[in-house]
Amino acid sequence: MDLGIKGKWALVCAASKGLGKGCAKALVREGVNVVITARGDDALQATAAELRALNGGEVRAVAGDITTPEGRAAALAACPQVDILINNAGGPPPGDFREWDRAAWFKALDANMVTPIELIKATVDDMASRGFGRIVNITSGAVKAPIDTLGLSNGARSGLTGFVAGVARSNIAARGVTINGLLPGAFDTDRLRSGTHSASKKTGQAFDTLWQRRMQAVPAQRFGTADEFGDVCAFICSVQAGYLTGQNILLDGGAYPGTF
Ligand code: NAD
Repeated sequence: MDLGIKGKWALVCAASKGLGKGCAKALVREGVNVVITARGDDALQATAAELRALNGGEVRAVAGDITTPEGRAAALAACPQVDILINNAGGPPPGDFREWDRAAWFKALDANMVTPIELIKATVDDMASRGFGRIVNITSGAVKAPIDTLGLSNGARSGLTGFVAGVARSNIAARGVTINGLLPGAFDTDRLRSGTHSASKKTGQAFDTLWQRRMQAVPAQRFGTADEFGDVCAFICSVQAGYLTGQNILLDGGAYPGTF
């Protein structure tokens, strides 16, 4: 299926690895020009080279922390216009809420709520004036089914989800702009591996035991891949998905146990 977005410009945040990279790959394959960002330049340049080898859209790489005003300004400056915005950043650490102070909360809110809101603010009206825009917020399955040790994530991402639910239905909806959440369950990325390594150290159980146990808890009996996450993201950004807005789409191999 031709997604009808060839030649559009996308800003894909936090995309040197994992889910962001999966989204960038799928968009570049569709002929979308992308600006990708990440904090570390080495992995970012390696990913940019990989994306260029797909012979799709143009690829620009901007190193910087997307959770800072400078990082956002540099990313936006590299993108001639933002037709597609993929909001993403590292997730907050796990822990016990009794140990989190005001600074820990503000760091999580800044990264996983205020940063995407700032980027939406910087781009959404121009999208509406051109009559086309796609915004996808990479959040987490924790928005639908909170995970007790990920309280910072549950809180910050639910705040973003509530905010977006209002904006998606505002006057931009009639002007070609959609905003949706894409909610990962368990995906085989560095984040899932490093989380499992930490749990292994903490509990003394072998990495492989914990990895297999986690996998078996997913009805699909496997973890998701960044590429399949990216393909769903690209579809949400397609012309065909123009009537899909204000939704939170869970991609979790059946892990969420509810009917709706
Ligand atoms: P990952 O660690 O594999 O990749 C994260 C990417 O983000 C890297 O490219 C890193 O350089 C970049 N990055 C991190 N912080 C950044 C910042 N401040 N500025 C710019 N770039 C930054 O992680 P992932 O698994 O792809 O996760 C992406 C998001 O999805 C995270 O917020 C994570 O919490 C969330 N999530 C992931 C899973 C999963 O199973 N992988 C599940 C639920 C939620």
